[in-house]
Amino acid sequence: MRKAFVILMGVVAIGVVARAQGDAWLAPYRPVAEKLIAESQRTDFAWQRLAELTDTYGPRLSGSEGLERAIDWAVAQMKKDGLENVRKEPVMIPKWVRGRESLELIDPIRQPLPMLGLGNSVGTPASGIEADVLVVSSFDDMKARAANVKGRIVLFNVPFTNYGATVTYRSTGPSEAAKLGAVAVLIRSVGPVGLRTPHTGSTNYADGVTRIPGAAIPVEDAERFARLAARGVKVRVKLNMEAHFEADVQSYNVVGELRGREFPDQIVLLGGHFDSWDPGTGATDDGGGCVVTWEAVRLMKTLNLRPRRTVRVVLFVNEENGLRGGNGYRDAHAAELARHVLLLESDGGVFDPSGFGFTGPDAARATVTTIASLLAPLGANRIGASGGGADIGPSATAGKIPTMSHEVTGDYFLIHHTPADTIDRITPKQMANNAAAIAVMAYVVAEQGLGK
Ligand SMILES: [Zn+2]
Repeated sequence: MRKAFVILMGVVAIGVVARAQGDAWLAPYRPVAEKLIAESQRTDFAWQRLAELTDTYGPRLSGSEGLERAIDWAVAQMKKDGLENVRKEPVMIPKWVRGRESLELIDPIRQPLPMLGLGNSVGTPASGIEADVLVVSSFDDMKARAANVKGRIVLFNVPFTNYGATVTYRSTGPSEAAKLGAVAVLIRSVGPVGLRTPHTGSTNYADGVTRIPGAAIPVEDAERFARLAARGVKVRVKLNMEAHFEADVQSYNVVGELRGREFPDQIVLLGGHFDSWDPGTGATDDGGGCVVTWEAVRLMKTLNLRPRRTVRVVLFVNEENGLRGGNGYRDAHAAELARHVLLLESDGGVFDPSGFGFTGPDAARATVTTIASLLAPLGANRIGASGGGADIGPSATAGKIPTMSHEVTGDYFLIHHTPADTIDRITPKQMANNAAAIAVMAYVVAEQGLGK
């Protein structure tokens, strides 16, 4: 079907855009899709809900009071929406505490600098770590200058290309530098140049390697350090971080459902992660993804649409620094994973919708591609070559379940894990259109199945 479409569209086809003319089975869904889209666009309900969440509870770092209060709020709101089987499913999560932190330039001049400690990092001694900075442009560059690493603070000044390629310096930089005797690591923030904004995010220590503190600095400061070093100027800084782990704490995945009218045991799962990093308020990452997937179910409920299969929304906990929510769901639902029809995660932002990524059998791909044609009015009819998400990954692997990622346009990585991740970056129209796109996709899949 995909091949036929490409031939039909000739050179106009870019990627795999859904066909304008759906199969005959799709026709009855057209008016339903129009109703879901119209209902979503009629109000700013989803945006207001995200604003309430982020304004009231702020960031939702694992182990924080804000997260637990937000979880209780979500449960109460889902019940108010009339969702069924609303519950908290217990998961033990890590509690990493940032504490106070600072970075001061000592040479060539004293100046406090913007910074954010990396999530899961160890702290410095109470007196801080003061050392000269060695600026490197890659792991290879560091290894070529291995003799100069000992006793230094290594700065990985690696320009952002794409997330996957650049984030490795955040996740493994501290351990790689520690192997050569570095005392701490700074990384150039993993994102495009912003407004002198540091980006946090997890680091992962290798076993058997000394754990040294890691922090991110803005792109502008990394570039400044590189220019100074290139001129032969000594760059010396003092890093203070109180970061540490405390004992694991009890937390929860939040689950709500619209039970299927014919095959209630078969499940279409939608969700995002409810925890966030602490500098902003976790609006784009990932309060927005949680609210638009939840809103998709609320829209069905509001319109008295009850598909044949169950639609379940899951707000996963602890994606950012542990993935305990995603792993916990897999374990708690092991017996019913085989009855999951589709897992859909929204964790790529809630800007203008463009469609969905999909990973699964060809027949299922053909079905979702046909369904996506209903989303042409929203510009959300593209089905990408692959799709998944961190939280749904463990269940998808264990249950061999097709996965879908909600996809959007927009500069997600500009604000990712920064103090600028607030509701102000998102419009009510974007929230409404994303919720509508997910609602239509989820409803038709829950009604039609994926041809298994
Ligand atoms: Zn996220």
